[in-house]
Amino acid sequence: MKVAIIGGGPAGCAAAYTLQKNNIDFELFEAADEVGGRTKQLHRDDGYNLGTGALFLMGGIYPRTMALLREMGRKKQLVPWTGASELMDDDRSRYPVRLDSFLSFIKVPTLGLRDKLRIIGTGLRLFFTPSARNPFDGSQLARYDGDENLEDWSRANLGDKAFEYVMRPIMDFLYAVPLRELSTPFPKALMKQGHKIALSSPEGGIGQINEWFLDNVSPDRIHVSTPVEGLTREDQKWRVSYSGGSILVDSLIIATEAFIAANLLKAHLSEDAYSRLMSTHYTEYAHVVVGYDEDPWPDYPSDIVLPVGEGGVRNVGAMVLHGRRLPASVPNRAQMVGVYFNTPPLKDMSDDDIKEEAVKQVNAAFGQAQKPSFVHLFRYKKGLTIAKPGHYEILNKVHSLLPKGVELAGDYFSQAGVEAAVHSGEKAAKNLLRYRAQEF
Ligand SMILES: Cc1cc2nc3c(=O)[nH]c(=O)nc-3n(C[C@H](O)[C@H](O)[C@H](O)COP(=O)(O)OP(=O)(O)OC[C@H]3O[C@@H](n4cnc5c(N)ncnc54)[C@H](O)[C@@H]3O)c2cc1C
Repeated sequence: MKVAIIGGGPAGCAAAYTLQKNNIDFELFEAADEVGGRTKQLHRDDGYNLGTGALFLMGGIYPRTMALLREMGRKKQLVPWTGASELMDDDRSRYPVRLDSFLSFIKVPTLGLRDKLRIIGTGLRLFFTPSARNPFDGSQLARYDGDENLEDWSRANLGDKAFEYVMRPIMDFLYAVPLRELSTPFPKALMKQGHKIALSSPEGGIGQINEWFLDNVSPDRIHVSTPVEGLTREDQKWRVSYSGGSILVDSLIIATEAFIAANLLKAHLSEDAYSRLMSTHYTEYAHVVVGYDEDPWPDYPSDIVLPVGEGGVRNVGAMVLHGRRLPASVPNRAQMVGVYFNTPPLKDMSDDDIKEEAVKQVNAAFGQAQKPSFVHLFRYKKGLTIAKPGHYEILNKVHSLLPKGVELAGDYFSQAGVEAAVHSGEKAAKNLLRYRAQEF
């Protein structure tokens, strides 16, 4: 069997790793000039290593990613991070919390006894309610999906204060959209399995996991700067066309964004399957990395600031001192802050507005600093997939509507995150192996 993997983000790289392990012949095609997708690193000449997208793994709630890292002997190379955070209220009061501990949020002084009892009661109720075992497995999430949205559920079950001081800061950082746009099975599973969360990243940034996946793959099987442009059926095989050539394969793993997969396969899909894929909602997303050659805040008591309060729309969801999170990502004595914007204000902001606002927010959060040595904006027209109520069910059905020999992989089948991508990439490769075994 020969396979073409289209897309070299974590989903495509995890698929390549799984095929390689099983001695299956494959070629991987990546449109960009290197693999990594939205987990790529940007290595600047002055020694800073910037994450262009993803920043951390989340331990026990990333079971397939952790299992593969363990299998490759790489798990011990992850740099742990406690995620020591501060909630910064509208009046600039600060409340220490830990991103890896929901319980730490219960101590926030703006929550009254009634709020705390409601959080504990809801937590206990969730504990005895069935939910996804892997919060990034779309087929599990689909079983618990309905038309409920996260804001209404949180306000009804946790109360308004807990919505503003617990649920909203966490989800603003993770997904940056109003919570009314999010479905509930993922956050419920996250709350239930909160004790398993442990933050970490490879020393070289999260993009390094793709290099690890491809460690034993011969470089002549990896074709970067090679966007796939067309897929045609020839007898029982698939012809994969790219600029400058084509190859004939038995099977495809398409690990691009959902709308690209839909358009590549359009001629081979039913209208229903095509429109399900195209219904995946991507939001505009922006984050800014602000660099300082001399760390202005060497003694700052936390690594993250999360703006909170009841003041409505906030421009920024989180600010992270990356030099604390990953010391090897900055030159000696330097510091680098990631400023993660919420989606709604972006539509009215130019690139310059975003950069200016980022520096202003950094100074307000950590204290006035000297002029930064660089300000780098990463702006995505289609940044994160957002699972609206009903999304998992709509996408899960797509797997059974695909032509023979085609598997799709990507984080959009569940919830944006490296685990979703890795889980789906590994599963796509395993499905091809299973079908091949059945044919013999
Ligand atoms: C700012 C930001 C912060 C994030 N933070 C985190 C985090 O902290 N932790 C976490 O777990 N996740 C995080 N994520 C999400 C994570 O990055 C994604 O879930 C993950 O990258 C999805 O992987 P994927 O392989 O499905 O898609 P992608 O990473 O998007 O990869 C798809 C690949 O397909 C390629 N491609 C597209 N079209 C073609 C074509 N025609 N031919 C060949 N190749 C093609 C693209 O170039 C790309 O490389 C973050 C994302 C962003 C944007």
